[in-house]
Amino acid sequence: MKEERSVGAIIFRRDVGRCLFLLLHYQGGHYDWPKGHIEPGEQELDTVRREVLEETGIEDLTIYGGFRETILYFYTRGGERIRKTVAFYLAETSTSEVKLSWEHVGYKWADYEESMNTLTYRNSREVLEKARRFLEQRGISV
Ligand code: ATP
Repeated sequence: MKEERSVGAIIFRRDVGRCLFLLLHYQGGHYDWPKGHIEPGEQELDTVRREVLEETGIEDLTIYGGFRETILYFYTRGGERIRKTVAFYLAETSTSEVKLSWEHVGYKWADYEESMNTLTYRNSREVLEKARRFLEQRGISV
């Protein structure tokens, strides 16, 4: 079976006592985190920074060491079954302006509850739940 690996980011910014998370509206209709394929020679954090810049225009990212959560899913492309893993990092920004690429049709800065109601895939919601736990353990109210 073909294997694919991507890396993504849960990006948040602080807004009067809570966190807002950046959700992207994909062309396929679903809402999910920014993510993309690892290019040859890249370390995962290089991929995170490159993909976030390409997909959102955001440059200022503080990546939280100690948070890395992977998800696994399977899909079929051109009759071929693909086993895909995506590693998610957690990053804070102070940028609110988003410049989308052609890959997405919209975006949303959403609080935790709205994010949980908007994210299409359960595995992406589970990553958000882990991020919330991680942030609250560090005194950041989500
Ligand atoms: P990348 O953003 O990593 O470059 P891609 O655009 O090549 O990825 P995916 O976003 O993985 O491809 O989408 C391939 C298929 O998997 C689509 O049918 C999509 O709906 C589905 N998919 C995407 N994310 C998930 C997920 N978290 N769980 C289950 N299925 C997903």
